Amino acid sequence: MPNAYQGNSLYSFDPMMGQLEVIEPGIAMFHGYANSAFAYGRGEMLAVDTSSRTMGAMAVARIREVTAEPFAFLIYSHGLGDHAFGTEAFIRDAIARGFARPKIWAHEDVAGRFDLFRMTRGWHSHVNRMQFGNASAADEIFGDDTFSYPDLTYRGTQFLDLAGEPVELHHAMAETDDATWVWMPARRLAMVGDLIVSAMPNTGNPNKAQRYTLEWAQALERIAHRKPQYVLPGHGPAYQGEQMCEELLTETARALRYVHDEVVQRLNAGQWPIDIVEANIALPDDLADKPFLKPVYGCVPFIVRDVIRRYAGWWSGEPSQMLPAPRREHCEDLIALCGRDAILARARSLMEAGELRRALSLAEVALNADKEDAEPRALNAEILEAIVSSERSFIARNFFAAAAKQLRNHAM
Ligand SMILES: [Zn+2]
Repeated sequence: MPNAYQGNSLYSFDPMMGQLEVIEPGIAMFHGYANSAFAYGRGEMLAVDTSSRTMGAMAVARIREVTAEPFAFLIYSHGLGDHAFGTEAFIRDAIARGFARPKIWAHEDVAGRFDLFRMTRGWHSHVNRMQFGNASAADEIFGDDTFSYPDLTYRGTQFLDLAGEPVELHHAMAETDDATWVWMPARRLAMVGDLIVSAMPNTGNPNKAQRYTLEWAQALERIAHRKPQYVLPGHGPAYQGEQMCEELLTETARALRYVHDEVVQRLNAGQWPIDIVEANIALPDDLADKPFLKPVYGCVPFIVRDVIRRYAGWWSGEPSQMLPAPRREHCEDLIALCGRDAILARARSLMEAGELRRALSLAEVALNADKEDAEPRALNAEILEAIVSSERSFIARNFFAAAAKQLRNHAM
């Protein structure tokens, strides 16, 4: 349903943005930039994730429409901004209602992640403005009140008691190394954060820290082993029914393992990273067709990069790229040989033939030879805009769009 938040949404493909989904009495999920999951009904409540800095208050307001129970625990599924930065609103709610301050639980590495964000805040703000395609929303991710550090942390597994009901926290490595999935055995309820994002898992985000493809698959398999009746994900709708949950968990794990194993097999056969990237590894059709594995945020080529980076370092295998000549000099050499106009003409004809990646590579040669030359600037922007119109990955699309915009702005 349309609402006021869709226009300013980082994840505008969630049609429930800003709403509370009550799955059954005692189990609910708020849809913000990321979801917040709630378990309640026994006199106390827990929340898995507190939404983002700007949406925490709305998450609290929505859950307060269905229950007045105090928050006993706020549990971070991991330390990223769309999940763990809305905590202030939850604390304010407890103070306003005269409740005890909720205990914030997280894996022990979340605090280190917060420290890292504070150290590299400028870089993350810069990348987020492009990645999310929305500068003002990206700028709102970090603020002075952003970091509510965990009160209590654990390492492998932690058992909690929610008004007499057992709650288990399990550590996982997945999108981050500090992930937690929460299991409530009496309800067969798994609250899994970004272990499930209702799309292709986002491993290999181009300008973010290392992610953990194989461990991600293993965590999903461990959750499936518990045979959940409900899976509440970090993004997208709640999943219900043992069969649906099993398919979601095991098929997502199978997709990650497929890409992981394809890359590892090639590395072991002595292929260079650049050759593996160019092999265009793709999922088998039966996996690619799954509605919960669409490459609308992350995508398979990014996962390939993530696995390579994890095991094989940064060098592509191309000798010229070990200690590279400056791009400008290399491109000036090509222009001297071929001529600027011939290169631009060829790039344009490739674009018109729909060979957009090849067109971009060639147009970049002319641009890198002379960044101030207006014609290659305009052609590069045009090719990037054509790529944007057909690219399915939200992340890739936004980075291409940001690059085109930079070229266009400079031209004015
Ligand atoms: Zn997320």
